[in-house]
Amino acid sequence: MSRVVSSDGRTHIESPLMRESLVDRRVIASTDSENELAILPDVVLVGIGGQSIFDRGKAAVMPLVAELSRLREGRRHKMVLGVGGGTRVRHTLSIALDLGIPTGGVAQLVGAMEEANAVFLNALLAKHGSIVMQREHFWELPLYLESGMLPIVISIPPYHFWEPPPENGPLPAHGSDFGLFIHAEVLGMKKIVFVKDEDGLYDRDPKKHEDARHIPRTTLGELLAHMPEDLILDRQLFECWERGRHVEEIQIVNGLVPGQLTAALAGEPVGTVITRTTKGKG
Ligand code: ADP
Ligand code: MG
Repeated sequence: MSRVVSSDGRTHIESPLMRESLVDRRVIASTDSENELAILPDVVLVGIGGQSIFDRGKAAVMPLVAELSRLREGRRHKMVLGVGGGTRVRHTLSIALDLGIPTGGVAQLVGAMEEANAVFLNALLAKHGSIVMQREHFWELPLYLESGMLPIVISIPPYHFWEPPPENGPLPAHGSDFGLFIHAEVLGMKKIVFVKDEDGLYDRDPKKHEDARHIPRTTLGELLAHMPEDLILDRQLFECWERGRHVEEIQIVNGLVPGQLTAALAGEPVGTVITRTTKGKG
């Protein structure tokens, strides 16, 4: 039972943080937990690209849906699917900026575009047990998984109206890949597989440079030390991962090549595998 203490004229509830300022660096450092709870450590988050996959329509989406439904047979993997918004996001952004909508309003619109792709995917996977998780229903996720369902979530970070002002211009700085990363991190997931339209990470954008070199395996440390100019995932993801405590591996596979996602979920080194070698602060 906690005691109430009032020796300095103010009322405190006895705890290690009693009388402390929560912005004091020393206090913050002392709060690091050795064993932060991992809520869903065995679940893999599979992010499906908006522009790279959905915008290609049937040709890209249907084979991937077929692969996902095969993966559902026998319920071998506990997974959550994340969807990006794609090119409609860019169109909506340009209208929003033209109208002078503030950053938080713009961030909310991006999420709305992603919701459309979540509905598409849900329609295609419904007979295989999919369900769209409405963002306020976060705590129902374990229930869905326990009941054998395949949850679909949007990727954009949940800041919406509360998106912090960016360094330059009004565009929200936090993108879909970053959003899926924090989703996995808060739930204590160990692995994320990003499904895009390239065989993973290259040293340069392979769509612009024919001689771009494929990187089959790397570490977060190596990437942070030698970050490619162009990236297949949001830059903030890597910066945030350095401070993360749970996500251990990020794999990027080509969703246009049937079988790559299946191989990644089986632990095979297809595409690009990025591991965090140094432990986070936790
Ligand atoms: P989505 O919107 O579907 O999440 P993006 O289009 O943002 O996906 O990202 C995938 C694209 O990133 C690829 O099609 C590729 O052209 C581009 N890209 C940029 N830099 C790289 C890189 N270093 N390695 C691989 N792909 C890259
Ligand atoms: Mg992207």
